[in-house]
Amino acid sequence: MLRNKYIIKQVEYRPTPAFQRCIIPGCGATYPLEEIRTACASCGSLLDVEYEWDRLRVPGSLTFFEEKWGRRADPFCFSGVWRFHELLPFAPLERCVTLGEGQTLLQPSEGVARYAGVRPGRLFLQYEGLNPSGSFKDNGMAAALTHARLVGADRAACASTGNTSASLALYSAFTRAVRAVIFIGSGKIAYGKLSQALDYGALTVQIRGDFDDAMARVQEVCRELGIYLVNSVNPFRLEGQKTIMYRVLEGLRWEVPDWVIVPGGNLGNSSAFGKAFYELHALGLIPRIPRLAVINATGANTLYELVEKQGLHWNQGNPDRALIDRYFGEMDAHGRRASTIASAIEINRPVNLLKCIRALEWCDGVVCEVTDEEILDAKAQVGAGGLGCEPASAASVAGLRKLVGGCIVGADQRVVCVLTGHPLKDPTATVAYHSADPEQFDQVLGARGVRQAEFANHPVVVDNDLDAIIKAIQTSGA
Ligand SMILES: *Cc1c(COP(=O)(O)O)cnc(C)c1O
Ligand SMILES: [Zn+2]
Repeated sequence: MLRNKYIIKQVEYRPTPAFQRCIIPGCGATYPLEEIRTACASCGSLLDVEYEWDRLRVPGSLTFFEEKWGRRADPFCFSGVWRFHELLPFAPLERCVTLGEGQTLLQPSEGVARYAGVRPGRLFLQYEGLNPSGSFKDNGMAAALTHARLVGADRAACASTGNTSASLALYSAFTRAVRAVIFIGSGKIAYGKLSQALDYGALTVQIRGDFDDAMARVQEVCRELGIYLVNSVNPFRLEGQKTIMYRVLEGLRWEVPDWVIVPGGNLGNSSAFGKAFYELHALGLIPRIPRLAVINATGANTLYELVEKQGLHWNQGNPDRALIDRYFGEMDAHGRRASTIASAIEINRPVNLLKCIRALEWCDGVVCEVTDEEILDAKAQVGAGGLGCEPASAASVAGLRKLVGGCIVGADQRVVCVLTGHPLKDPTATVAYHSADPEQFDQVLGARGVRQAEFANHPVVVDNDLDAIIKAIQTSGA
């Protein structure tokens, strides 16, 4: 049964009480861990990694993980992913890939709280920009490459709006676990991210098309050439991303927040967060599941349209697939393409759509959309608050502000916004926003319908003259 074309190489393998299972309950087909798949063979749906928890050693309380802090000299205790190995035990610990991912911060931010309209002390920013390649993708990459190595893959590929490729390129350069092949759409990738892929030596294939095109092609190429795919259709990658929520709980001394707010692109994160909370609750490790809000950009709002406008629901595993097909059919008929300054979420065909609506059901979630202008203003607030983030990340804060305005999130509720990527990923957008030069502003932002930068911090242009400089500083109020 295992000897099919999805197996790259038969490898020595120690059985783990884990397997892959189709997410559609009515199908439920299962596959062994060592099978390389990104879809169910019988119905084409996505797969989960599932565990036989009763055959595993599960901690009785989340405080169990604190014991690992004292053993930080051990790389698997240092890693913010593998520190939680007991909650994603698909590979023996000694085979896990790590380069110190997940050393992240959960920080309260008064300024951002005030901007978003929640009471100071109630908003926390989960800053994933501190990861080795500067985005949350490293959490997933550590897990995906662990599986790749388990099954003996020698090459790994992804389509990327930038951060997945930066992460894959870094992990492959550093760990030598696999050789990296990355696919990007032309002109759609922020320079910080592209520079990482090139610098880390990944084979970089630039396709004339956008992310949705690159995503479709990379799946075909991986099938044809037997290359291991690390996009978020890979269920192992999402296991790694569950740990972002474990660290949020850790930062809150294991108390469950009221809301978790996350930008939505390919919807891997929101799917992983839902699974993390669902499992923790089922294992009796948390008393309740927080609510989840997924934020789309208005220029890439498939999830928002389908869920909030057209009423798509997971419906306990029976989603209205005809509704989805009709939506994408119309999108293609009109040649509609995703367009937002938040390039990391510039995606119209989110591959994890079904897993995300399942997460929304598990977490009593909502979806919201925000304009590029709202995203950039929120980003400026996050920057002024001292952490900073790339445009897509700020969608979480912009979304929170809208949800508070719409009385969906209460000002007294305890909220976590996930800041998905580092501010240096996309300096072009930041500099254009703060530029005093209307031409530069227009070129980058005006072209996208952004009219003004409410929180612009213009550079002060001054002659090379001491008196003039002193005068400029004194009149600035600094
Ligand atoms: C990948 C990415 C996203 C989108 O995450 P999904 O899991 O695809 O929804 C958001 N922000 C940043 C910075 C990213 O790199
Ligand atoms: Zn199936």
